Amino acid sequence: MTKKVYIAYTGGTIGMQRVNGRYQPIPNFLQQLMADNLAFHHPELPQFTIHQYDPLLDSPNMTPGDWSRIATDICDHYDAYDGFIVLHGTDTMAYTASALAFMLDGLGKPVICTGSQIPLCEIRNDAQDNLIAALLLAANYAIPEVCLLFHSHLFRGCRVVKVDADGFDAFESPNCPLLATLGIDVEVDWSLVKRPSLPISPINLQTIREPGEVGALRLYPGMSARILENVLQPPLRGLVLETYGAGNAPTNNPDFLRVLAEAIEHGVVIVDCTQCLRGTVDLTKYATGSALADIGVLSGYDMTPEAALTKLAYLLSVESNLDVVKVKMQQSLRGELTRP
Ligand code: ASP
Repeated sequence: MTKKVYIAYTGGTIGMQRVNGRYQPIPNFLQQLMADNLAFHHPELPQFTIHQYDPLLDSPNMTPGDWSRIATDICDHYDAYDGFIVLHGTDTMAYTASALAFMLDGLGKPVICTGSQIPLCEIRNDAQDNLIAALLLAANYAIPEVCLLFHSHLFRGCRVVKVDADGFDAFESPNCPLLATLGIDVEVDWSLVKRPSLPISPINLQTIREPGEVGALRLYPGMSARILENVLQPPLRGLVLETYGAGNAPTNNPDFLRVLAEAIEHGVVIVDCTQCLRGTVDLTKYATGSALADIGVLSGYDMTPEAALTKLAYLLSVESNLDVVKVKMQQSLRGELTRP
């Protein structure tokens, strides 16, 4: 039986055209290019359906409402297809891939986010390779996870960060090995791939509420307690605090800790993620870290800030009990963090 893949085409460089010297998403342009390109008619490719979003987005314009729309779209077509591709701009693809991983609880089929650095319309591009690889993986590999495919690498979606604004090798998952490498052969690391629970449960869609009531703040030397206090005002309910090294923050300024402690008392969930690309938060290592743990800041362990932000938005949307939110924030739900 020919496999069937559903493509949710949300926008991004992959289908853009240069208009007045600038790239813009143009409706139906990608579909026309694919129809005219023999590579997309190869018999080894699965059958595919492209669902074009309206409007097509340059991904800095994505909001939590768009994440929920993509997740709902996948669930609406879940039974009819073998796998799913989300065509998306690279700028915020790490956020969308993470958000989808949390919202698609019980996922039993591959969902592969991809895009490109150069549009399909250009003679030298990475769009064709990424799209063809995503089609083959989505149709033929039992990887029941939200993944991100780029430059012959398949990553766990909730582990990814965009690390290069220009190069083809634009993504990394610094704290998680690759799920698969596409060289002469496709090599999947099956020891890492999530196994579906048995009996296979139906997919359980739980969307993220809009407007987002979560935020992220990157510490910098000399940040005043006033600035922190302003950020922690309602409607904020969750904050990813991007700290230094092993999760450390300034402790010489008592107002800084007081402002954080007061926000936590008022029900704001604060999660500590490191600004470092690799490694983990360990709030037992330094006094500048344990002071945060003592007032109730949660360790984000080795989660990316993208995963922590979307996980916080997800948990605050679906859980009314803050204690449960805090416990789950520090557990791995979709392989987004490593804990001993
Ligand atoms: N600005 C584009 C986007 O994120 C960049 C890309 O797709 O590579 O939609």
